[in-house]
Amino acid sequence: MAKKETSGAKELKEKLFLKKKNAYLRMSDAEIKKCEKFCEGYKKFLDEAKTEREAAGFIEREAKSAGFVPFDKNKKYKAGDKVYLVNREKAVILAVIGKEPIEKGVNLVAAHIDSPRLDMKQNPMLEKDEVAYFKTHYYGGIKKYQWPTVPLSLHGVIVKADGSKIVVRIGEDEGDPVFCVSDLLPHLASAQMKRPSAEIVKGEELNLIIGSRPFKDDETSERVKLNLLMLLNEKYGITEADFLSAELEAVPAFKASDIGFDRSLIGGYGQDDRVCAYTELMAVLGAKALKKTAVAILTDKEETGSDGNTGLRSAYLKYFIADLAACFGKEGREVLSNSKCLSADVNAAYDPTFPDVFEKNNASVLNGGVCVTKYTGSRGKSGTSDASAEFVGEIRSLLDKNNVIWQTGELGKVDIGGGGTVAAYIANLNVDTIDVGVPVMSMHAPFEITAKTDVYAAFKAFEAFINN
Ligand code: MN
Ligand code: MN
Repeated sequence: MAKKETSGAKELKEKLFLKKKNAYLRMSDAEIKKCEKFCEGYKKFLDEAKTEREAAGFIEREAKSAGFVPFDKNKKYKAGDKVYLVNREKAVILAVIGKEPIEKGVNLVAAHIDSPRLDMKQNPMLEKDEVAYFKTHYYGGIKKYQWPTVPLSLHGVIVKADGSKIVVRIGEDEGDPVFCVSDLLPHLASAQMKRPSAEIVKGEELNLIIGSRPFKDDETSERVKLNLLMLLNEKYGITEADFLSAELEAVPAFKASDIGFDRSLIGGYGQDDRVCAYTELMAVLGAKALKKTAVAILTDKEETGSDGNTGLRSAYLKYFIADLAACFGKEGREVLSNSKCLSADVNAAYDPTFPDVFEKNNASVLNGGVCVTKYTGSRGKSGTSDASAEFVGEIRSLLDKNNVIWQTGELGKVDIGGGGTVAAYIANLNVDTIDVGVPVMSMHAPFEITAKTDVYAAFKAFEAFINN
């Protein structure tokens, strides 16, 4: 009797098809416990480090307590030494020296610690009809309508004329006041709702309410502003002119929390890209005897295109590598040319509510593991570094060998939109680079969503790469 054509199809399919499976169905109970514990630390980080300066401070403190010391380019280093460099309080580089000669290359991991937010303008104070405001200028790509009616906290620094610096953090502690941007009530919003959605709230309408109580017994104008400046002068010793040399950032005041009855997801502000910053940091802080030197970069200004001296289009990484190489009598370019990099940034998680923008076969999903993105960019791969098949192959087998749950993902359908990461700027230094990060739902919104299993998988990926 002839063999049935269909027989063995199930086995064959099992053997030949690419398998995708939810991380919860692949992890042991013990692993899930570890993952949950890890995410508790992550949520604390999200609450403590809401801006690039706060993240840089957090990273420096953690590094110090893990035995890292400030990098000194005139010193000789040996395997096991741990150093760090802080760039203008906004970016940090950590390095753990490995046993292999430095000219054989280093393992780089690069995440960014800036997130979309509302920056205060240079001359921010304004009183209008007895309500006082800070005028803002949004930072990074935001949907402006998402930011009104959200409690916001104020973070940053004010540099006074004498050069002294005041650190501001208001709206995070119990009992602190918060700030917010108003929106129109629906009853009167029929004209507003006819605006194109990019203009439902316009840039110049993102005004932060900072007070409403006028200065008493005075016939002068702008009495609310006067009263506020009096309060600020009493508390910080500042005058209005001091805002000219300040960097104040409004970010969501709420804390990170679990989402869902099953607590499987994390909601919080600034997970792009502090989710990769934290997982990368934990991996490098835990580094033991390394074969290759590990270099972790926590950079600023990714959300505005990486320009400026704290962004990765600047030379600060190149200079650091050159200085590190010089400690061993080598050239920075030799080190870079033999180095490999995981550009640790988030990707868009497939959103079942808005499936149309994703090409499901090539979208990353929540609980699918850490996402490996071969290329980013927009249109015809414009602005991407596009990792080589060889390098993807190397990372693929590294992750599999270390039982890291991972998936691939492309940012949406072709020509729907696009985006970039720091990968291209590192690859431009002649480094093999690929994007590896956590899928995020509602990216760039005040409250972004990640899956705990993916966060933990990212940590395991960076750990495997550094210890490789
Ligand atoms: Mn990012
Ligand atoms: Mn982003």
